[in-house]
Amino acid sequence: MKIYIDGGYYEKVDAAVSVFDHGLLYGDGVFEGIRIYNGKVFKLRAHIERLYQSAKAIYLEIPMSRDELEDAVLKTVEINQKDNGYIRLIVTRGEGPLGIDPVQCKGPTVIIIVADIQLYPEEYYKKGIEIITASTRRIPSDCLDPRVKSLNYLNNILAKIEARQAGCQEAVMLNTQGFVAECTGDNIFIVKDGELLTPSPCHGALDGITMRTVLELAESLGIRIRETTLTCYDLYNADECFLTGTGAEIVPVVKIDGRVIGNGYPGKVTRLLTEEFRSLL
Ligand code: PMP
Repeated sequence: MKIYIDGGYYEKVDAAVSVFDHGLLYGDGVFEGIRIYNGKVFKLRAHIERLYQSAKAIYLEIPMSRDELEDAVLKTVEINQKDNGYIRLIVTRGEGPLGIDPVQCKGPTVIIIVADIQLYPEEYYKKGIEIITASTRRIPSDCLDPRVKSLNYLNNILAKIEARQAGCQEAVMLNTQGFVAECTGDNIFIVKDGELLTPSPCHGALDGITMRTVLELAESLGIRIRETTLTCYDLYNADECFLTGTGAEIVPVVKIDGRVIGNGYPGKVTRLLTEEFRSLL
């Protein structure tokens, strides 16, 4: 495995950043998770764009252009000869003194890791999964906009621990107003009376690239779509529910907080969208 750090390539054992890097000290940085399918990087430009937007929101200037970064990602994939896998693209604030002020940091660190992906078992896609609602609320947009894909995932990690403790893979996170935001690492959708609904990012969700792809697919299939406000009541009474994310793709949800969703099996719209999504890969 060859890991890219600031223009150089290093073996895994030699790939290291300083313990004074503010990415480590304070979670000060941004990242992306990207898939490689059959030798092609999926939605690379959209991920690069979101990375730059996250960086801009936190006053972090990525020390290369979008095209240069895109080339670096493609070169790292090529060097690692990975036809199917996962890319972790990270930009940290860089090395600096032991204080939160980034002003004295030397400059951002850019890291590209190309690795294998740990997939969910096929059973999850066939039978669907059970999720819970976490008591940990999503950080409000007026504190830190959840569209910033930052290196500080503690909020989501706490909700993930709740999911694990409940014997589930994922947990729904509500915003501080009690509306559905997203899951710990996935966006959430429901189908109700033939309409596809998902919380608008302004309710506290990451603007998911898989979510956008699914909305485009649904539109092209003539399915009515709406980014809206959802409560737990809407989730419990949905005809279908599924999660989307780069790693998970589209995972059906068949139980939420002990309520069976629809007939308890992955629904028709979920299966159709999954089929269409897979045909893109
Ligand atoms: N929400 C959160 C909090 C995430 O971390 C992710 C990415 N794993 C998603 C949603 C899904 O986004 P995407 O489809 O761009 O991977």
